[in-house]
Amino acid sequence: MSILVYAELRDGAVRPVTREALGEAKRLAATLGGPVTVVACAAADASFAALGEAGADKVLFAQHAAFARYDSAGHAAAVAAAAKAVGAKAVLIPASAAGKDLAPRVAALLGVGMAGDCTALDASGGKLVATRPVMAGKAYEKLAFPLSPAVVTLRPKNFAAAAPEAGKAAAVEAFAFTWDAAAPRAVVTGVSGESGGKVDLTEAEIIVSGGRGLKAPEHFALIENLAAALGATVGASRAVVDAGWRPHGEQVGQTGKTVSPKLYVAVGISGAIQHLAGMSSSRCIVAINKDPEAPIFKVADYGVVGDLFEVVPALTDAIQKLH
Ligand SMILES: Cc1cc2nc3c(=O)[nH]c(=O)nc-3n(C[C@H](O)[C@H](O)[C@H](O)COP(=O)(O)OP(=O)(O)OC[C@H]3O[C@@H](n4cnc5c(N)ncnc54)[C@H](O)[C@@H]3O)c2cc1C
Repeated sequence: MSILVYAELRDGAVRPVTREALGEAKRLAATLGGPVTVVACAAADASFAALGEAGADKVLFAQHAAFARYDSAGHAAAVAAAAKAVGAKAVLIPASAAGKDLAPRVAALLGVGMAGDCTALDASGGKLVATRPVMAGKAYEKLAFPLSPAVVTLRPKNFAAAAPEAGKAAAVEAFAFTWDAAAPRAVVTGVSGESGGKVDLTEAEIIVSGGRGLKAPEHFALIENLAAALGATVGASRAVVDAGWRPHGEQVGQTGKTVSPKLYVAVGISGAIQHLAGMSSSRCIVAINKDPEAPIFKVADYGVVGDLFEVVPALTDAIQKLH
């Protein structure tokens, strides 16, 4: 019996969301017992032993030439086979773009239920209780699953990574699984990245987002300058993405990315429910808006009622002076 974690890798490196899943797996293992096992799907051997420092006891290395990049069916086959092999009580998968695609496939292959985008997990009475937002974040529901296993995806930046155990290496084992790669139902023909070396929005500690209140795309320079002063990543509301001012990769919200940074600064964003769905779990929210009735102030920890064209340059200036 084990807690199984799907290791999300990017260019061979372990992503922070995987460390968070490992931290939570360790916490669950303290209640449920059993080791924390990682399944790593990759085309070539990487330094998987390093996953030990993040909390893994054992790594199952599912190797396939097709795994040079994410493969829905192949990864699902490997993860489901690993869950059976280790008698997993729970399968923890990051709620990243790949994880959201993977988890339902794994649950279907195992014939069990799943809960997506969980913000808290608890093990009690032989069940896994998952807390997740519903109705665009207006409410939270708790779902109890039998440990047969329970398949869950974890919202990034909601779970604490385990304190690194220096020098602890995980045992890495080759894991054999069956998957017919000859007749794929879908093939990834290319991956286009927009981040250009920037921190991914879902992994950012600080985000400065701009909305229609900026009035024109060139005024986003104000957002970029404030973001640069804070060491933040730039986000956007859907209104400005739909207007073609910003790329879709920057959209925060129900039909964009779900983010949970330590600090979220919303500038000229009204706070429509669909925007709040993507950012209301941020730890500290600062809103700058000239309308005191703007709904964003209902979720904000700090609010500045004022003209962003005056407030943002002054704030940027003040932060730069602190450096
Ligand atoms: C199915 C569906 C899915 C959606 N998904 C998303 C999503 O993922 N993300 C998302 O963001 N939206 C989403 N939306 C759209 C959402 O409903 C809103 O239309 C959108 O969030 C509004 O963007 P905004 O706040 O930038 O613009 P507005 O609502 O126009 O707000 C602009 C704000 O700027 C303020 N302002 C104006 N001038 C100034 C100034 N000089 N100084 C300070 N403040 C100023 C105004 O007071 C106002 O509050 C979705 C809608 C639907 C129907």
